[in-house]
Amino acid sequence: MEKKRIYLSSPTMHGKEQEFVKEAFDTNWVAPLGPNVNSFEKELAEHVNIPYAAALSAGTAAIHLALRLLGVKKGDIVFVPSLTFSATCNPIIYENATPVFIDSERETWNISPEALRKAYDKYPNPKAVIIVHLYGTPAKIDEIMSICAEKGTVVIEDAAESLSSTYKGRHTGTFGKFGIYSFNGNKIITTSGGGMLVSADKDMIEKARFLSTQARDPARHYQHSQIGYNYRMSNVTAGIGRGQLLSLEEHKSLKKAIYKRYKEAFADISEIAMNPLNPDGDANNWLSCMTIEEGCEVTPDKIMDALEAENIECRPIWKPMHLQPVFQEYDFISINGENGCKSCSVAEDIFNRGLCLPSDIKNTDEDMERIIGIIRKIFVS
Ligand SMILES: *Cc1c(COP(=O)(O)O)cnc(C)c1O
Repeated sequence: MEKKRIYLSSPTMHGKEQEFVKEAFDTNWVAPLGPNVNSFEKELAEHVNIPYAAALSAGTAAIHLALRLLGVKKGDIVFVPSLTFSATCNPIIYENATPVFIDSERETWNISPEALRKAYDKYPNPKAVIIVHLYGTPAKIDEIMSICAEKGTVVIEDAAESLSSTYKGRHTGTFGKFGIYSFNGNKIITTSGGGMLVSADKDMIEKARFLSTQARDPARHYQHSQIGYNYRMSNVTAGIGRGQLLSLEEHKSLKKAIYKRYKEAFADISEIAMNPLNPDGDANNWLSCMTIEEGCEVTPDKIMDALEAENIECRPIWKPMHLQPVFQEYDFISINGENGCKSCSVAEDIFNRGLCLPSDIKNTDEDMERIIGIIRKIFVS
């Protein structure tokens, strides 16, 4: 018999979602607008403590609209970490702007303040900086925000993976001019697909709603003076989101418990390190990740093969953007010769030695034991 499937991070529904969805059906609000959309925006904004939010069809759409609202256009430079998911930087290309990829630091795996400073030496006037809180770990926000403030650059926070993570008590996604969240199927809460753009700037969020609904000017006839998008969240989807939001903090504590379990289980194996946490933050531990010590003969592939053979889902660390064929022509800024890895960047080193462990909050104790047992066996004989 095939072993029970264990997932990396799958949706976890609780039932309350269906009540909001039912309400949408009962009132026939099956449209890209409606009471659930308005309420989801308000409730999410309250949860992370920011004044305004626009519910959209995807996190990627939220990043795209943030760039549009900042007027990012052809020829503009946008700084973005290399170690991230492609959705962080694809919208830069949608606007024909130029990404400059920045290396990570080792303490949080996020954009390196030193490399960021170095990037300014070469490109003094970027139009925006996008930062990411990878796998839920907050970046070095104070350092980054102070560099960007000093240089007068606006910051977009890609908090797609870090909804509910905090830094010095404040929610990730609320530090930049814009923050974005994702409700894709594997995120900490999901609406099957969806996203949110948040900001303290009321006009910008109103403009985001306008652009997300095809940029219709206020007129009875269909009048357009700008290019718009079909990016609004539907009222059915927003119903799922309202239900999920009620369980966000519970999901966070379950994710944190998974991380803690792995950390304790591998504490005696010196070749394994868990992904770092920011001491100034409280991470949601969206995905628990590990790296294998440099020079160890065990490779991430070996671990992934062993887990997959047992019907357990896992995945590599995001492959850095500067190594992607599609982004080959763009610059990459790194501090070379840094800490132990002389030949490669920090981003590439983490990619080479790391992997994402199953972090599904429905994992039982037995599931966790199965995963841990398989990995321990590779290192301890
Ligand atoms: C998931 C994700 C996104 C994109 O969100 P979608 O809702 O899937 O469009 C953007 N950035 C990062 C870092 C992500 O992990």
